[in-house]
Amino acid sequence: MNTTSTAKLAGLGLTALRSNFERLARPYKLTFSITYGCQSRCLTCNIWQIKPTGELDLREITEFASRNTHFKWIEITGGEPFLRSDIVDIVKAFRDSSRDLYIVTMPTNSLCNQDMVVGKITQILELGIPKVSITISLDGYRELHDKIRGIPGNFDRAMGMARRLKELQKTHSNLFFIFGYTMSKFNQGSLMETIAKVRQELPWAAVNNFHVNVGQLSDSYYQNQTLDLRPDPAVISAELGEFIRHRRFEFGAIPIVEGAFLKKLGYYVKTGRAPMKGRSLDASLFMDSYGNVYPSIMWGRKIGNIRDSSYSLQPLWNNAEAQQVRSLIDQGKEPVAWTACEAYQTLVGNIGSLFI
Ligand code: SF4
Repeated sequence: MNTTSTAKLAGLGLTALRSNFERLARPYKLTFSITYGCQSRCLTCNIWQIKPTGELDLREITEFASRNTHFKWIEITGGEPFLRSDIVDIVKAFRDSSRDLYIVTMPTNSLCNQDMVVGKITQILELGIPKVSITISLDGYRELHDKIRGIPGNFDRAMGMARRLKELQKTHSNLFFIFGYTMSKFNQGSLMETIAKVRQELPWAAVNNFHVNVGQLSDSYYQNQTLDLRPDPAVISAELGEFIRHRRFEFGAIPIVEGAFLKKLGYYVKTGRAPMKGRSLDASLFMDSYGNVYPSIMWGRKIGNIRDSSYSLQPLWNNAEAQQVRSLIDQGKEPVAWTACEAYQTLVGNIGSLFI
């Protein structure tokens, strides 16, 4: 890691540490859905049914990036982010404005033209951001993944994407990638079998190359509140335990936070309760592709729209609605959820929770 990357990592670490002792004046993490367009047909999510119109264009996103220059961590999401032909310019806009930006993450369903996607990822890697992390969505072994995602051949496309990214890592040390596995009633009990089947295709893949989440309901984001995803807590608690036992110990901040996230995920699954208070509208926020700003990806309580604040977050950050949301969080009245999008900043903002 060069000096600039080390300084940016230290900046992110110090800000996260500071969030343990004070409410931050500005968020360091932005979760941003850049489009609700998606070619998947997932059983767990209804985003694919949305035909988005009026999403923020590149000029607006660039304006937003230039007026809000304090992000150290940007989690791009969708829909399928690579359906936006301007994805490289979007990342570049944040890279140009947020000088301390350390990490950009984004998922892919592996359904876009892979030469195009790998070309765009290569351009993003060459923007000089210290860490770029790609999550390849994978919810099961071949037949199961294709059924949950509603697209025949999707598993093989995900394997192809993983091979391409593994190759790309040889020339780009700032690339990190994992498989993102969402547990639901559709794949309960199949996690370890999926990992074994992936290893038949990709012998280098290990348990640590998988990130697991539990499918959740949201009327504002996934728009899946009418779906029944809920798995049997006993089944997924058991497979989560087995998954944790097979994880290899790794040094570093990210493996430590990931380990703590998984432990707390077990608590969430067993009890149906959030393990701790979130850091929404403190360390982080969620913005959708229309510029609506929410406390988090799972909490559809809009605090405003950046189109109404000349693309500046500050007026929204301090408005009455935002104060209300913070007060509800202080009273422990935020919606129950435990997703990686929100959990990482919550864990590092409650530093003791990383070790218990
Ligand atoms: S889960 Fe992801 S890939 Fe599936 S429909 Fe929703 S946005 Fe698309």
